[in-house]
Amino acid sequence: MGHKNLKQLDAIAFKPGDESGFRLCYNGSMKHTNVVRVLPDKRQKQVLEIIGDRCAALWNAVQYRCRQAFFKGDSVPSYAALCSEFKEHPAYKALPAHIGQEVIKKARKAWDSYFACLRLYRKGELKEPPHIPRYWKDRRTGRRIFRVIPVKAPTSYSLDARCLSLTLPQDLRKGQGDRLVLRTKGVLRFHGRPKTLELKYDPVKTRWYAHQVVEVPEPVRKARPEKHAAIDLGARVLVALAVEGLNRQLLFSAREVIKDFLYWTNQIAGEQSRLNRAGRKTSRRLKRLYQLRARRLRHAFVALAAEIVRILKRLRVTTLFLEDLTGIREAMDFGPKNLLVHNFWAFRMLRNLIEAACTRTGIRVVPVEPRGTSCRCAVCGSSVRRPVRHKAVCEKCGRVWHADANAALNIILQGSSKEHGAEATPLKPLALRWDRHRWVSRFESAAGTPSGATSGSRMAA
Ligand SMILES: [Zn+2]
Repeated sequence: MGHKNLKQLDAIAFKPGDESGFRLCYNGSMKHTNVVRVLPDKRQKQVLEIIGDRCAALWNAVQYRCRQAFFKGDSVPSYAALCSEFKEHPAYKALPAHIGQEVIKKARKAWDSYFACLRLYRKGELKEPPHIPRYWKDRRTGRRIFRVIPVKAPTSYSLDARCLSLTLPQDLRKGQGDRLVLRTKGVLRFHGRPKTLELKYDPVKTRWYAHQVVEVPEPVRKARPEKHAAIDLGARVLVALAVEGLNRQLLFSAREVIKDFLYWTNQIAGEQSRLNRAGRKTSRRLKRLYQLRARRLRHAFVALAAEIVRILKRLRVTTLFLEDLTGIREAMDFGPKNLLVHNFWAFRMLRNLIEAACTRTGIRVVPVEPRGTSCRCAVCGSSVRRPVRHKAVCEKCGRVWHADANAALNIILQGSSKEHGAEATPLKPLALRWDRHRWVSRFESAAGTPSGATSGSRMAA
């Protein structure tokens, strides 16, 4: 499939990936992805399944060709070579050209990412060797399965808030015109130049979704006085936020998020042992639990990114220094029981979501590689002692810091290359926690209503 390889690549390069629904292009615009649910009726479902199956047939034929070349030691044919080679292939001719070409492109891209991963593996930057692209088939039954129908250009589809229409293959056009018009449900969040569209089938939910890429020009930044903020990422405190001129840092606690993640991890373990006893490997319920766990985590992160942007906007911040995750792995504390060590992608996802949310609102994001930001005092610059994990005590001026708040302040200093000593002694940082709907401060949740200047967003006002 190449999918796993892509993820591994992403893990190395830390490119903003699909999980944030966002990518930066080189021409000063951004790519966003709109996702809407597609509601085919009974007959349309069959049509989609036929087209999906034909895509799988073409994918498998292309992979067979590439794999044979690869095993023989020949070079894997290029996209252009594959296109001309498959022009007369029955699997290609069974699809409209703009779908067929896109399947070939996708299949060839899987090889690109395989080779890229292989290079990294040989350099020792990947632990496991990558897999060569696979066939779309059920491993157990050997039957062909469909995953996705990619559509190349907006000339061959149209998507609005109500419906999606697609060109049908020649032989499926009996009596109902040459287009398939499907009802959709959902909101098109991004408007811009439409690019490719993928119709994806979710076998766990047994539902179809349309993923549309749109290119949106980057927002024009107003000329404003420069104001900096910085974020330190971590496993216990997910985000420590420091804003220039604000005498108090904000800490977003990981506790509730991890608790929820653990709960679903236990559910998964329970289902796995139930399956083991039954001599089975997987079930729809198991896949559903994995999906749920990932989605609940993402929900908390999306809300966190939104809350950060709200605060930054209100404080008229122009630039955010965001920790670059390269090399973080060795130095990092991965939370209780090292829970997140195997879920390092979570940090990348969080980082990318924050970056995407900032870029959308016109806040510049500057990646910084923190160097020693947690071992010196943000006021006087002397080294600090760490009597307990979350505390840092300055050896010279005696200030007692929350370690993460101190680190975030140091990132501002490092990013704006300022001297130490400019800030006054900060107040005790404000802690926010996830109540599964919103990020709230301790005071807010205890009182039931936001109390005075203590709520996160009010404090920032
Ligand atoms: Zn100090």
